[in-house]
This record gives sequence, C-alpha cells and structure tokens, in this order.
Amino acid sequence: MLPAPLTMMLAFLDVQKWRPQPVRRRGRRIRLFALETGSCEGCAMELIALGSSVYPLEGSGFQRVQHPEDADWLLVTGAVTRSCAGTLASAWEAMPAGRSLVAVGDCAHDGGPWKSSYATLGGLQALTRVYGAIPGCPPSPEAILQALVELAEGGSSSTGSQASSASRRSRQ
Ligand code: SF4
Repeated sequence: MLPAPLTMMLAFLDVQKWRPQPVRRRGRRIRLFALETGSCEGCAMELIALGSSVYPLEGSGFQRVQHPEDADWLLVTGAVTRSCAGTLASAWEAMPAGRSLVAVGDCAHDGGPWKSSYATLGGLQALTRVYGAIPGCPPSPEAILQALVELAEGGSSSTGSQASSASRRSRQ
C-alpha cells in the first residue's frame, strides 16, 4: 500500500481521471454529494441551508445524497487542505461514471484566503479542471441554486463557466 501523501498526489496529478464529464439533465434529478475539505465552513453552512424547505432544491431537479457512490455531482466547499485531500480523492473515486465536480465558494475554487497556506493544496482550480465554479465568500443559497440550475441546463464545462456569471448576476 502506498503512503497516504503519495496516493494523494497521484490522485491529483492524474488530470485525465479528474476531468469531469458534461452533465445535463437526463429526465431525473441530479444527485448531489457535498464535501467540506477545510475552511471556515461558511459555504458548507449555505449548502445546508439550501437543503432546507425554504429553497426549492428538489423542485429544481436536484437531490442531496449521503454517499458519493450515489452521486452525479460532487460539490466541494473549502480549500483543499492536505489532511482532507485523501478523502476528496476517495469520494471522487467512489462516484459512478458521468460524475462531475463543482467548486462552491472562493476557497474551493482557488483556495480563497488560504491559497498560500502550507496546510492546503490551494483550490480545485489548481488541481483539476472543475466542471463549474460558484464564486462567493460565501455564495448565498439562492446564488448556489441558480448556478446549479444553469449548469444542469447546459453550462460550459470550463472553470468559471456560466455558473460563475449566474452567481455574479444574482448578487448584483
Ligand atoms: S469562501 Fe469564504 S465562506 Fe466559503 S469556506 Fe472560504 S472563507 Fe469560508
């Protein structure tokens, strides 16, 4: 068995493995698994709020799931800390084919205020080509939902994508 840090780095350096698929609605809800990889947890709390009855998450075509094995999209909040990188790689590996990766919040996208910390690997932007990035510190539940809907309806597969502009618009 490889040492944990080496396994972690191999996972991140295998860009092809991390390249997400374009995901669109396929007549069913898109299943979301959220993972906090280390920061203030502000974005994670906004995601929890989004799952409350106040917001029409399920009515908009999404479903929260408790296990990455059941998920279509992996929603990452927080900078990628070294201690959580292995967990992130394991979650991604466990997801079925067609999986995609969405960075929720500035920390997940580029490391935010922690990008130069010795304790992090930065954000997902530096590690892989994410399917979508939702900016904000933190993005509101409304902004997250709007960005997810735009991605599901054919948002660009490039980092920043339509989700970013959707989120920016929603905050104006
Ligand atoms: S983007 Fe802001 S709110 Fe979200 S985890 Fe980072 S510091 Fe916290």
